[in-house]
Amino acid sequence: MEYKALLVKYGEIGIKGKNRGSFERALCTQIEMHLERLGQFTVVREQGRIFIACPDEYDYDETIEELQKVFGIHAISPVMVIESIDWDNITAEVLKYVDEKYPDKHFTFRVNAKRADKHYPIESPDMCCKLGESILHAYPETKVDIHTPQVLLTLEVRNRAYIYSETIPGAGGMPIGTAGKAMLLLSGGIDSPVAGYMIAKRGVEIEATYFHAPPYTSERAKQKVIDLAKIISAYCGPIKLNIVNFTDIQLYIYEQCPHEQLTIIMRRYMMKIAEKLADKGKCIGLVTGESIGQVASQTMQSLNCTNAVCSMPVYRPLIAFDKQDIVDISQKINAFETSIQPFEDCCTIFVAKHPVTHPILSGIEKSELKLAEKIDELVETALNTVEVVECRR
Ligand code: ATP
Ligand code: MG
Repeated sequence: MEYKALLVKYGEIGIKGKNRGSFERALCTQIEMHLERLGQFTVVREQGRIFIACPDEYDYDETIEELQKVFGIHAISPVMVIESIDWDNITAEVLKYVDEKYPDKHFTFRVNAKRADKHYPIESPDMCCKLGESILHAYPETKVDIHTPQVLLTLEVRNRAYIYSETIPGAGGMPIGTAGKAMLLLSGGIDSPVAGYMIAKRGVEIEATYFHAPPYTSERAKQKVIDLAKIISAYCGPIKLNIVNFTDIQLYIYEQCPHEQLTIIMRRYMMKIAEKLADKGKCIGLVTGESIGQVASQTMQSLNCTNAVCSMPVYRPLIAFDKQDIVDISQKINAFETSIQPFEDCCTIFVAKHPVTHPILSGIEKSELKLAEKIDELVETALNTVEVVECRR
């Protein structure tokens, strides 16, 4: 079947009142950006919904798949457009639609017909009855069920008529650009790409920071993080990725501080640097893939110590997730296969055999005093030598 239009439905939450217009505009912009490479689509908003007029030729499956990546869309309905609104023509086209769409006619249905133009000669309830009768007559295996129909057939008569009955689920969430911007600490693991995806789903624009430690970590480990940023950018939009050379800081911490505290202290410096870059990028929050108890650096006590260096809010969307739940999302967004590629992470290289699991903040701060001589300069150098990669798919 040829669908000349797609109807986009979005949730009502958070879009009441004066926010509605900006929400709808942001959603239209996102849809246009996603569909740009697939053809000349025209996106129009009208009366609480968004209408996409499709070009004469386009790849339907690819278009739907792409729209399912747009946050803010709750459902998509492919629409058949009927050019002439003469009632006999509408009836004939609707019967044709039903025939093509439902080869097996053993289903229950209800017709939901509306006329936008009150001058149209048939009133809405009459349109429902007439169409229902015509369908029953043409396809006697069908049955009407007013309350729980298997097929809800919607007809809208405007200057043209539109018919649709299928609802394809969208990604949900809010359109990118309707919340602020946040800095994602993106490593090559499973968790942080999922965390970025989840925050972006709430409408937050994402910038990212990755810490590497060449030559202890390889180019391929870095490429893996770039690949992950590209994968999530299919949902989150283009991502500016800041790549920070963390080697000298890590070595210095390694020389000066007790080894069981290494991870915590490193994490604290990562947060500090990420926050500086966040400020520069006009971000108003940090995002990590931490989850309580997953590893030593993610116990409540460790999180308390890491968090203490930040003045910005730190968002941890996975905080109460089990690993399997995170893996499920990672697979759903096509990040998993990339995340499990076995490249070294800068945290794992200098990791202690027995890292502290219950660090005390005052003890960590005391150890960090040993870094006083050079650390500010090293942080400054790391910030001045950031490599920026624009990641888009
Ligand atoms: P992930 O799967 O996201 O790598 P993880 O289970 O390996 O997480 P940790 O290594 O303790 O856990 O990291 C916790 C969080 O800290 C990560 O989710 C990420 O947000 C951040 N992080 C860790 N290492 C890096 C890094 N090298 N660069 C940027 N962020 C990092
Ligand atoms: Mg990691």
